[in-house]
Amino acid sequence: MISAYIALGSNISPRLSRLQTAGKLLSREGDVDRAAPVYRSAPYGVEDQPAFLNTAVRLKTHLSPVALLDFVKAIETQVGRQQRYRWGPREIDLDIIFYGQEIVQQPRLTIPHADYKNRRFVLQPLADIEPAFIPPDAGQPLSELLQLCPDSLPLKLYRKNWMIDGI
Ligand code: ATP
Ligand code: CA
Ligand code: CA
Repeated sequence: MISAYIALGSNISPRLSRLQTAGKLLSREGDVDRAAPVYRSAPYGVEDQPAFLNTAVRLKTHLSPVALLDFVKAIETQVGRQQRYRWGPREIDLDIIFYGQEIVQQPRLTIPHADYKNRRFVLQPLADIEPAFIPPDAGQPLSELLQLCPDSLPLKLYRKNWMIDGI
């Protein structure tokens, strides 16, 4: 089993229940053994859009990286994601940030996620899950990467316990 770290986001209502449905669906292909709190965050990149709810989970899974990508994309579709412009509003977004210590560079899949070090709304929930985790492309643990993160967009705690099965 590999520990995959997945970032979840939504900025189209009902945001929290979309995160909850996605979290529940993820547990069909493994064990969601840790879930960060949900944060409310200002939009990143394209600023003229509603605020996001963001969180992250750790999934212990047998799926390969590519199978996991296909799985999270299927969940996005199931939770109602429509195709829009890049970094625009979305019903749900599931990004694979880490897959154990593996590095994946493929046309469809980059792991670790290409921009995670620059995003507080990704690093904060990951650091909540496992502050001592040292990513394969970093020499420092998540707790320190969070301190170094250049992104100053505000994050506000929104909901501590949100997973439907109570993790
Ligand atoms: P960003 O990746 O900058 O957060 P985004 O999440 O808005 O942007 P999407 O439109 O959701 O981008 O996804 C575009 C493509 O990114 C996906 O179809 C997928 O093939 C690819 N991709 C590459 N690496 C990853 C990854 N680690 N996790 C999820 N998708 C990835
Ligand atoms: Ca994303
Ligand atoms: Ca994505």
